[in-house]
Amino acid sequence: MFGQMMHRPLMISSLIDHAAQYHGDTQIISKEVSGEFTTTSWGKVAQNSKRLANALSRYNLQLGDRLATIAWNNYRHLETWYAVSCSGYVCHTINPRLFPEQLVFIINDAKDKALFFDVTFLPLIVAIKDKVPTVEKFICLSGKDEKVLAALPDVLFYDDLVASESDQFEWPELDENTASSLCYTSGTTGNPKGVLYSHRSTMLHAFGIAVPDSLNLSAKDVVLPVVPMFHVNAWGIPYATAMTGSSLVLPGPNLDGDSLVSLIDDYKVTVALGVPTIWQGLLAAAAKRDTTLESMNRNVVGGAACPPAILKTFKDKYHCETIHAWGMTETSPLGTANQTKAKHADLPEVELEKLRLSQGRPVFGVEIRVVDPDANNQVLPNDGHSQGNLHIRGHWIVSEYFNKGESALTEDGWFDTGDVATIDPDGFLVIRDRSKDLIKSGGEWISSVELEGIAMSHPEIRMAAAIAAKHPKWDERPVLVAIKEEGSNIDEEAIKAYYQGKIADWQIPDRVIFVDAIPINGTGKMVKSELRDQFGDVLLTA
Ligand code: ADP
Repeated sequence: MFGQMMHRPLMISSLIDHAAQYHGDTQIISKEVSGEFTTTSWGKVAQNSKRLANALSRYNLQLGDRLATIAWNNYRHLETWYAVSCSGYVCHTINPRLFPEQLVFIINDAKDKALFFDVTFLPLIVAIKDKVPTVEKFICLSGKDEKVLAALPDVLFYDDLVASESDQFEWPELDENTASSLCYTSGTTGNPKGVLYSHRSTMLHAFGIAVPDSLNLSAKDVVLPVVPMFHVNAWGIPYATAMTGSSLVLPGPNLDGDSLVSLIDDYKVTVALGVPTIWQGLLAAAAKRDTTLESMNRNVVGGAACPPAILKTFKDKYHCETIHAWGMTETSPLGTANQTKAKHADLPEVELEKLRLSQGRPVFGVEIRVVDPDANNQVLPNDGHSQGNLHIRGHWIVSEYFNKGESALTEDGWFDTGDVATIDPDGFLVIRDRSKDLIKSGGEWISSVELEGIAMSHPEIRMAAAIAAKHPKWDERPVLVAIKEEGSNIDEEAIKAYYQGKIADWQIPDRVIFVDAIPINGTGKMVKSELRDQFGDVLLTA
C-alpha cells in the first residue's frame, strides 16, 4: 500500500465543535417569541447542545429516530438541532404555517418521537396532540410556564432539561451517510414529500454555500437568516456559519420589514437571506425610515424569482449587492448562485443588469442540464436560448423521497426539478417558470415570471401574480392578479399599456384584476394554484 491521507467522516458535530473551539465568543443574537433579545455565542450554543444531548440520551431513542421542531429562528432551536443531529437522530424541522391536517400528515409520515415547540405554537400543539400517536415527548422551548403546563400536563421545559445536565458529551462518530435532518417540501405543488439529508450531504453543502462565488461567508460577517430554519434548514446557514465562524442574528417570529430594518441597523448585519416577499416588505419599511442599511453589503434572494425592481433598489439606493440564488428542498437547497466572473468586469451596465438577474451558475458539487421532455429528454445545448426541463445532480441532491422506497431520479441518474429553464455557455441559469405555472397560449409558452417582473417594476404595483386562464380559442391566456400600492388609482388599461414595448404584444395579459391580497404559503411564496382556482375561468365568462 502507498501512504494516504487520514479519513475523518464528514460529521455535523465537527461544525459545532469547530465553532466552539475557534469562534467560541462570537456573538449570536436571538429574538425570542416574547420579544426579548438573548445574546449568546457559539461556545454557549455548543455547551447547551451537549446538555440537551445528555438529556436525550436518557430517553429510549434509537439511532435515526426523528425528533421534530416547530419553532422560529432562535437560539434554543439552534441548540436543539445540533443536539439532535450530532447525537445521531434526525432533526425534522416543521413549517408551522402548514394547515393543521398537513402538519398531522407529516408528523405521522415521519413517525416523530418528540416535538420541540416555541410557546406561541401551544394552541397548535394542543389541537394536534391526540392525532400524532408516535410523539412521546413534547418539549416547550422555554423556561417553566404554568399556562403551558395547564394545557399540556406532560410537557417538558427546555430550560429545565438543559439546566440539570452536564455540558460534557462525546458526540458519536458515525458513518457520514447517516441521516441528519428531514424537511418536507412546502407543498406549493401538491402533497408535502420528505427529503432526508445526511451528515455528508449537509457538510458538503455547507462548504458549497460558504465559498466566495456562492454566499462568500466568513468570520467577518454578521449573518441574518430571515429564511426560517424550517425552510430547507434556513438554506444551510446555521451549518455554514458554524464552519466559517460568522456571527448570527436570529430574527425570531417578526419577519416584517420594520423589525428587519431594526435588526440590520442595530446589530450591523452584513448579509441577510430571504425570499422576494421578505425584501419587498423590507424595502417598503426602509423607504419610510431614515436608514441607509449601511452595514449590509449583500443580500441573498431565492425561493422564487427575484423581481428586477428589488435588485435595482438594493443596488442603487442601498449599495447592497443582491445575490440571486436558485434551489429547492430536494437540493439542500443551493443549486446556483449569481456571481459574475473576471471577464464581466467591463460589461456595459444594461448587460450586467440582465446577467445579475439570472439565477446564477452552479456551485461546485452540482451539475445542471436542460432537456426536451417532448424528445425523450434529449439534452439541449447550453446556449442561453434552448428552453427545457431543468435537471440537476450532485453531492447534496435527493435520490429518493423519505419513506417512498423508489428512486426520484431519471433513468440516467438526474433529478427533474419541475422548473423550465435556459442555461448559457458559462452555466448561468434562467428559470423561465415552474412547468405547472407556464402559460400556454395557442401552442406558444409565456413565462409568468417575466410578466410578474414587469408588473412589479411599475411603481404603483406592490405585488403581482400572472396565471394561465382558460381561453376558448387559445387554450390559455395570461391574466395578471395585482395589488396596488397604497393610495394608487391605477387601472387595467394603464398596466396593459405599461407592458407595451417590453414584451411581444401577444404576451400581454388579457385581463388585469386588482385584489387586496394574494395568498402566500408558509415559506412566503405566492400560491398560484389558489389564484387559478379563483380566476382561471374569468376569460370564459367574459
Ligand atoms: P416548494 O417546491 O414546495 O415551493 P421549495 O422551497 O423546495 O418548495 O421550492 C423550490 C422551487 O422554488 C423551485 O423548484 C423553483 O420553482 C422555485 N425557486 C427557487 N428559487 C428560485 C429562483 N431564484 N427563481 C425562480 N424560482 C425559484
